[in-house]
Amino acid sequence: MSSEQDYVKYMPHNGFDDESATLSEGPPDGRVHDESRTIGPRTNLLNLTPSQALETVAGFLAECGEPAYRARQVLRHLWTKPAGSFDDMTDIPREVRQRLAGQFSIPRLAVDMDVQSSDGTRKFLFRLADGQAIETVAIPDGKRLTLCISSQAGCALQCAFCATGAMGFARNLEAFEIAGQVRELALLDPPLQPTNIVFMGMGEPLMNWKAVDPTLTILNHPDGFGIGARHITVSTVGVLPGILALSKRPEQFRLAISIHAPTDDLRRTLMPVNVKYPLADVIEAARRFDRRVTFEYVLLGGVNDAVEHAMALGRLARGCGAFVNLIPLHPGGTGNFKPSVPASVRSFTTELRRAGVEVAVRKSRGLDIAAACGQLRVERLRRRPPVGAN
Ligand code: SF4
Repeated sequence: MSSEQDYVKYMPHNGFDDESATLSEGPPDGRVHDESRTIGPRTNLLNLTPSQALETVAGFLAECGEPAYRARQVLRHLWTKPAGSFDDMTDIPREVRQRLAGQFSIPRLAVDMDVQSSDGTRKFLFRLADGQAIETVAIPDGKRLTLCISSQAGCALQCAFCATGAMGFARNLEAFEIAGQVRELALLDPPLQPTNIVFMGMGEPLMNWKAVDPTLTILNHPDGFGIGARHITVSTVGVLPGILALSKRPEQFRLAISIHAPTDDLRRTLMPVNVKYPLADVIEAARRFDRRVTFEYVLLGGVNDAVEHAMALGRLARGCGAFVNLIPLHPGGTGNFKPSVPASVRSFTTELRRAGVEVAVRKSRGLDIAAACGQLRVERLRRRPPVGAN
């Protein structure tokens, strides 16, 4: 990145009108449906929140002279007990299903790859209608199943160690494509039902608030997936208007902030976004957030893992009561980075604890299936013959 000006020019619009976190106006009815990506002329029900979907379907069925309870039957098949198609909603008369299919769509994401690690981690590559590919990782841990979901196809933020950042930004996902990652897993046989969701897959969720906002509702709503807000974590590099918007939601959604370096100078070299959102402002936003924040910190051998880095990080984390999650670097990312050696991880952890900070070292999962963000898509592109090749 040659200059701040270049960086700001390069960054796609983040969905906010200005730094005071005013959301850009959506469609006049407040729905998230993007007409430019409508699948045919039908209304995509999976792009609506459960309340919006219920109202829309109820209005249509009332016009058809159907009893009011039918709308709830349809709603149940959107997320709670998802159906692959209207035809699969067999508790609804065939004629009504056909009318629904003529008016609405419930688009699927195509499973392009489904690979399982020896440690149980399972990674999916979903192909979208326009050919874009996104990744989702399911990580079992005892009774918990954490799903790491993507919010953008690619990413514009170019963090130096990230395979997704290296591939560049393609587009924002729509709500049905983000929540659809959970829906597709519920449609598997046997189904996968996550207990926890983390927005730590491809993309920066707070650069796509317009779709992430309704997706949070779909994930949490009892007529959606019914996952508790405290079990849903939005992870950001520190997009300040987005943090403010998240803090205004009444539910207790969790916030994780990728810090990755305890000084502006070092952070700028690893995360160009630090030019737009400097560390001091990000830390202040974490301090003001009314719930406990987690700091994510990827350990890069010889780069950000010295004891003095730990001391500086400890001061920042203690200042806003943050929990620190240390992440060993997955091999196969990008750049010439290497993971920290075990002795450095130990001394880094010890120093943070000495500073009175609660810290955990994340277990590396799915090392045999390219489970770090963006890696599977990169591998798939390597293996897929170019268009037109035999
Ligand atoms: S680490 Fe996250 S924000 Fe940074 S480039 Fe990768 S996907 Fe984007």
